[in-house]
Amino acid sequence: GRKFFVGGNWKCNGTSEEVKKIVSTLNDGQVPSSDVVEVVISPPFVFLPLVKSLLRPDFHVAAQNCWVKKGGAFTGENGTSEEVKKIVSTLNDGQVPSSDVVEVVISPPFVFLPLVKSLLRPDFHVAAQNCWVKKGGAFTGEFVGDKVAYALAQGLKVIACVGETLEQRESGATMDVVAAQTKAIAERISDWTNVVVAYEPVWAIGTGKVATPAQAQEVHLALRKWLETNVSAQVAESTRIIYGGSVNGANCKELAAQPDVDGFLVGGASLKAEFVDIIKSAT
Ligand code: 13P
Repeated sequence: GRKFFVGGNWKCNGTSEEVKKIVSTLNDGQVPSSDVVEVVISPPFVFLPLVKSLLRPDFHVAAQNCWVKKGGAFTGENGTSEEVKKIVSTLNDGQVPSSDVVEVVISPPFVFLPLVKSLLRPDFHVAAQNCWVKKGGAFTGEFVGDKVAYALAQGLKVIACVGETLEQRESGATMDVVAAQTKAIAERISDWTNVVVAYEPVWAIGTGKVATPAQAQEVHLALRKWLETNVSAQVAESTRIIYGGSVNGANCKELAAQPDVDGFLVGGASLKAEFVDIIKSAT
């Protein structure tokens, strides 16, 4: 079966003190084992290293975004992964004072964070370069599809979000919208192993207006059928389709009980102790 997946998307929230508090709550949480539920926390970029260093090892850490292509005039966007490997190897060979004396932090392009983290000597640290400057909007399906394809090609795992606006739902266009968004991804990738699809109706995000279990199940099932028809039965069967939009400790259980709801992407409630209850809804 599909392992239950719970993502905590912190968006642009938290001071380092708040981050420590949330992580400590999560670390103390009694949750089902990682055989049963995969938990991924996505803090703001600047807190990736802090969260990574403090978080229990059975939970994973993810970045919230990545750049869509090879860089141009962007600070630090300096070339291909081959160049990255060369620079890292030079650093790894460098004779430098011990980490008691000097703290070294390397900030590679965003897409190379995992690569550098995996190759870099352990006494050097890795940091992200940037964070978003204002409240975000929605991207086009094609742009999201490009990003998904590019991130996968870089060896990253991806949570790809689809979802309709309230206007689209009210006009009966929900399935057309999410199918078109999924199609834009499907046209650009062939291997779905590292993809989790999140159904996030725009009207439910941060509004307190959660989809009903029936509404969520209807779209999740339709998405799975879409994958079956347009990709393959195997991909439809194995790909996790998770729900996001005003999930909290009180409404998660009934949603999790739906056969095609394979987990959650949680915003606001992932910053609170009830996130532990949401993880527990896996069983
Ligand atoms: P909320 O849980 O705050 O509605 O956010 C959902 C979301 O967008 C997760 O990515």
